[in-house]
Amino acid sequence: MPGMESILSFCRALSSTKADIITIQKATAAIATEYRLGRVDIDISIREGFTPNAGTKYLTLFQNPNYTEYEEPFDFRFRVDREGEILARLYPLKGSVYTDAEEHELELIANISFFYFGRIRFADVVEKSAMTQYLTGLPNSGGYIAKAVPIFKAHRAGNYDGYFFNLKGFGLMGKKYGIKQGDDMIRQYAAKLADFIGSDEIVGHLGGDNFVAMIKKSRYDEFTKLLSGVPVTTIKNGQSTVVKLAATVGVWHIPGESTDAGDLIGLPGVAMNAAKNVLHQPLCVVSDRLLQQVAEQKRVLDRFPSAMRKEEFLVYYQPKVDSRSNTLVGAEALVRWNHKGEMISPGAFIPVLEREGEIGKLDLYVLEHTCMDIRRWLDAGIAPVQVSVNISRKDIADATLASQIIEIIGKYEINHRYIQIEVTETTDEAEHGLMTEFLNKLREHDISTAIDDFGSGYSSLSTLRNFNISMLKIDRSFINNETFSKNDEIILTDIIHMAERLGIEVITEGVERKDQLDFINKVGCFLIQGFYYDKPLPVDEFTERLQNKSYTK
Ligand code: C2E
Ligand code: MG
Ligand code: MG
Repeated sequence: MPGMESILSFCRALSSTKADIITIQKATAAIATEYRLGRVDIDISIREGFTPNAGTKYLTLFQNPNYTEYEEPFDFRFRVDREGEILARLYPLKGSVYTDAEEHELELIANISFFYFGRIRFADVVEKSAMTQYLTGLPNSGGYIAKAVPIFKAHRAGNYDGYFFNLKGFGLMGKKYGIKQGDDMIRQYAAKLADFIGSDEIVGHLGGDNFVAMIKKSRYDEFTKLLSGVPVTTIKNGQSTVVKLAATVGVWHIPGESTDAGDLIGLPGVAMNAAKNVLHQPLCVVSDRLLQQVAEQKRVLDRFPSAMRKEEFLVYYQPKVDSRSNTLVGAEALVRWNHKGEMISPGAFIPVLEREGEIGKLDLYVLEHTCMDIRRWLDAGIAPVQVSVNISRKDIADATLASQIIEIIGKYEINHRYIQIEVTETTDEAEHGLMTEFLNKLREHDISTAIDDFGSGYSSLSTLRNFNISMLKIDRSFINNETFSKNDEIILTDIIHMAERLGIEVITEGVERKDQLDFINKVGCFLIQGFYYDKPLPVDEFTERLQNKSYTK
């Protein structure tokens, strides 16, 4: 049982005149651990009229990162004269049981520390730290908004742009230079921003490598130029090195009539996200079109769970044809969303589901429905062909994925050779290992594997060298032109030749015209998927195709 000694050392730490927020956090962490607390929050409520920052601020003094579930908290309230109240909430770890004596000790700790520390100073520190980011001393989100509100209320916000920016590749810097150096770079970066801003401008640090700013419209060029590369120094191998920190930037040109600071972080945040994850550009400005797209994506996400439940997703099959014999030899399963009779293409929802980590569910749904169709064909005495199913690269982070795929195929008692799994190439080193394991496991179970959109990425040769694949799908960009380039012809001839020698089949997708077919035959590829033969077909039409596999071309 924790004793008086730990209570005293907690009080001692807090009673020091030098105690700042970090001291308080450390002392709290020590005592919380002894008393099996998972989290300690301080809520400070300041009454209207007492300071410009009236309202309630929340500060988490301690949180054990290994736990997220707690028992009901112990609440201790302290009134601070007329101006407000401080509430300390102590959350026991799930399952912790306390003796009466221990409960009294917790109360004692709360009371003594509050008394020692001095309630006003306590309120000061809490309020200040609730408003600033401890690493850089810049306002945090609460502090930033608190400073912005008067500008909005005074109808002056229209003179400003609102920014949200995130440092490019900062996670990698942390790995390269170490966490301490990373923190130091963030501090220097923040100091440079603080130097830049005028007395009527604001910059804030939301934590990590996320920053916000409200800068005069007249200084747009100057500020965006600064954000394209802020030099900071760091030590590497004992040598001082200058590193330029560039940011991905979202900008909101604040409209003149704007009087509400509510969107000041969110809107440029949306633009920053679009710049980083969708446009892959350094900067994006908030526009009506962007907001419509974001609303549309949100609709997709909101509707996704019920669409899955109601089985609104349909599987279409696009034939793969051997152009030498003009016969159907395979198909690709392509998903469509039948939303109230409107057929939505995957381009409208797959990227959103990938970004939000939801795509895995849909991919397995498509696989399962494909297996159901194959089962029906077999039962009806119709000979199926091998069907390839797309698996998003995001899914392979789940190490059990290959087993889940095998299990689903097994559930319908389908010969593994009827299924092929398609994935796209990757340049990401972390994904490389996962991908290798995933493909190996499938191949061990005689499930065919294909690399989709081959040649559209940057890693084609290493893909051939390293991955256990059965088929390459040549990207349609190679044949998408009016005329065919000599370079493409040479590259394709060699790739196809190389693949053949490695025992890998080659198919070309997106073949629409006879001249494209001739070109691709000339370079040695005869498996074809494209509108020249067929579009993706609803299951009934495809079932008819299966019953008559030859094309008259
Ligand atoms: P993909 O896997 O490369 O599929 C081929 C896409 O090219 C399909 O588009 C197909 O309709 C289209 N296509 C085929 N032949 C031609 C042609 O001759 N001309 C033209 N212009 N297009 C042709 P779709 O069905 O819109 O699918 C787009 C992408 O969405 C797919 O590209 C795939 O990456 C993804 N996708 C589709 N279904 C799924 C799925 O169930 N799971 C996952 N993760 N992705 C899927
Ligand atoms: Mg595909
Ligand atoms: Mg493709």
